[in-house]
Amino acid sequence: VSQERCGAWAVDVPDVDCATPNAARIYDYDLGGEHNFAADRAAWEEIQRAVAPTGPFIARANRAFLQRAVRFCLDRGIDQFLDLGSGIPIVGDVHEIAQSRDPRARVLYVDVEPVAVAHTRHLLESDDGEGIVHADVRDPDAVLGAAETVRLLDFSRPVALLTVAVLHYITPQEQAGMHRYRDVLAPGSAVVISTLTADEREEEAARVERFFAENAATQVTFRTRDEVRALFDGTELVPPGVVWTPQWRPDPADPHGWEPHRAGCWAGVGLVR
Ligand code: SAM
Repeated sequence: VSQERCGAWAVDVPDVDCATPNAARIYDYDLGGEHNFAADRAAWEEIQRAVAPTGPFIARANRAFLQRAVRFCLDRGIDQFLDLGSGIPIVGDVHEIAQSRDPRARVLYVDVEPVAVAHTRHLLESDDGEGIVHADVRDPDAVLGAAETVRLLDFSRPVALLTVAVLHYITPQEQAGMHRYRDVLAPGSAVVISTLTADEREEEAARVERFFAENAATQVTFRTRDEVRALFDGTELVPPGVVWTPQWRPDPADPHGWEPHRAGCWAGVGLVR
């Protein structure tokens, strides 16, 4: 991908399939980012028009949940973050929130999408407290064994494991192999999850599933509330438990006018005992 095709991008990103819509770049476009291609934008317009009109609320509610959950972890004294499926950097990323509260906080991002990785790397160039690993999160050994991980994270102390809006790209079979991340967490660590569901929006979810199957490189798996609760097994689920993203410890200063179920994602935080 040339600089020309990337418009005003700060970095050149080689080997990108810009003709196939991609989840990271669709999400970036939805949130007002600039690191996306015509195919991503067209896919998003189509999703909004005909597939899932609640799309914009889903992304915003998810992003706000991520930020509240990071602050919750910081309040508990957790200063290390492993962000799986971190996405393309945009305003309010995990390291910005964490380091505005605690300049010594450490953040390791992980993503498989080259545009997300290149832009994160560029953004973090001059910082020692954060890094990115270009890996598939379904390969925990590659992530946990990467030089950046070893440099940044000390697993003998609590770490917040963030899997926010990424598990729906991972099937239940693949998910099983991801227990490795849990196994390395010290007591006092946190597990943060949000993931798409078809609960209370079966028809819309079926359209989304079909759309991704027909048009995108990544497929989508929806999980029920009980399935999401089960993902917290072995942790102490903090109140209010598994709820719609906007219902998780809402910030009264950030109201929204939507019915919570239209946020489309269940969310929660569990603490490792
Ligand atoms: N976690 C961020 C947030 O909530 O704002 C970004 C969420 S975005 C919807 C999902 C991200 O997960 C994308 O950047 C995508 O590239 C990444 N992703 C999907 N499957 C992945 C995989 N198997 N390994 C690594 N990253 C993955």
